[in-house]
Amino acid sequence: VTQQSQEEMLRVFEENLQLKQSAPEQAKLIVVSISVQPILSLAVRYNLKPTETAERLSGYMKKLGADLVVDCCVGEDFALLEAQNEFIERYQNHQNNPKSESLPMLASSCPGWVCYAEKTHGSFILPYISATKSPQQIMGSLVKNFLASIKGINPNQIYHLTVMPCYDKKLEASRNEFYNSAFETRDVDCVITAIELEALLSSSNLDLADMPSSSVDWPWNAKPPDYQVSRHIGSGSGGYAHQIFLHAAKILHPNIEPHLDFKPLRNIDFREVILENDGKVLLRFGIANGFRNIQNLVQKLKRKKCPYDYVEVMACPSGCLNGGAQVRSKEDSTSRDLIQKLENLYESLPLHKPEENPTVLELYNQWLGPHSDRGKSMMRTTYHAVEKNTTALTIKW
Ligand code: SF4
Repeated sequence: VTQQSQEEMLRVFEENLQLKQSAPEQAKLIVVSISVQPILSLAVRYNLKPTETAERLSGYMKKLGADLVVDCCVGEDFALLEAQNEFIERYQNHQNNPKSESLPMLASSCPGWVCYAEKTHGSFILPYISATKSPQQIMGSLVKNFLASIKGINPNQIYHLTVMPCYDKKLEASRNEFYNSAFETRDVDCVITAIELEALLSSSNLDLADMPSSSVDWPWNAKPPDYQVSRHIGSGSGGYAHQIFLHAAKILHPNIEPHLDFKPLRNIDFREVILENDGKVLLRFGIANGFRNIQNLVQKLKRKKCPYDYVEVMACPSGCLNGGAQVRSKEDSTSRDLIQKLENLYESLPLHKPEENPTVLELYNQWLGPHSDRGKSMMRTTYHAVEKNTTALTIKW
């Protein structure tokens, strides 16, 4: 299969370079969105600093034929802000109707978990899954919708490649929900992983450290920030539980100081935090990484004994820094050592808050405008359960 592979990427880059010579009006704008986990994976592999890694990756992609290389942090910020708004909507809905299935809200940014839920637990689980698109797919909307409009081109005149930590992101990009039938194009055309990039470099005896350095582009507005690879509060999986917990405490219980003291329960990959007042639990959030913990969570939900308001669910143990297509550990070190190294590196990055990102605040006005319908169509999605021996069912939140 060559779709969504290095072969596809190289073929498109090559053909586009030829078109730029022979028929420039038919050439596409090639945009590459890079996310923080593969940047860190490649930083460790090639012994580079994170921002230098992003800039060498930008140089390498442009050498191959990319026009713009952008950081996924804008999509991640939109995803966090949208998810926190969705949580407040669901929480209030649940207050009015405690029998509704609006809580617990389960994170949806991990396609490994979402596919498993759709296939294995059918319509029972779907109402709980957050309708907010993942950062990859919000980048898809941003690139194929907003960027296309400011460049004055159609979405199908852009080829959008993302660099991600796992193969499941390829499945996510191929979902029907992210296909624009009017322009016969996908929001994300191709997904490449850290390990595939390493293989590509190795096959040509290249080292990322020797690639030319090029700036990471900021085509969203006129005033680009001083670029640095940065992190969100919380884990290297995006920080959903931390961000939404702080926001919910501020909006729903403004007089109570929240403490982000996530405690491991059965194991390090299942943690919880509570907001309480005089011994009364006001909010209870969890983080469940890895299938063992996910299965346990689902069993609790089935028995109606799940005590959480929100759970950040990620299929990989230790989350996205340990994604299945990150570069593997070297022979002389263990995978645990490598994850520790990646976690330390993530912690060392400058912290940024989505609610303070001026680009995102500007784009809310410029791109999404005052009409929430447009925001919802760009930021939210739907899921489908295929029940055994029945027809497909669609749940829309
Ligand atoms: Fe991919 Fe693993 Fe992250 Fe899920 S947890 S998005 S499968 S890297």
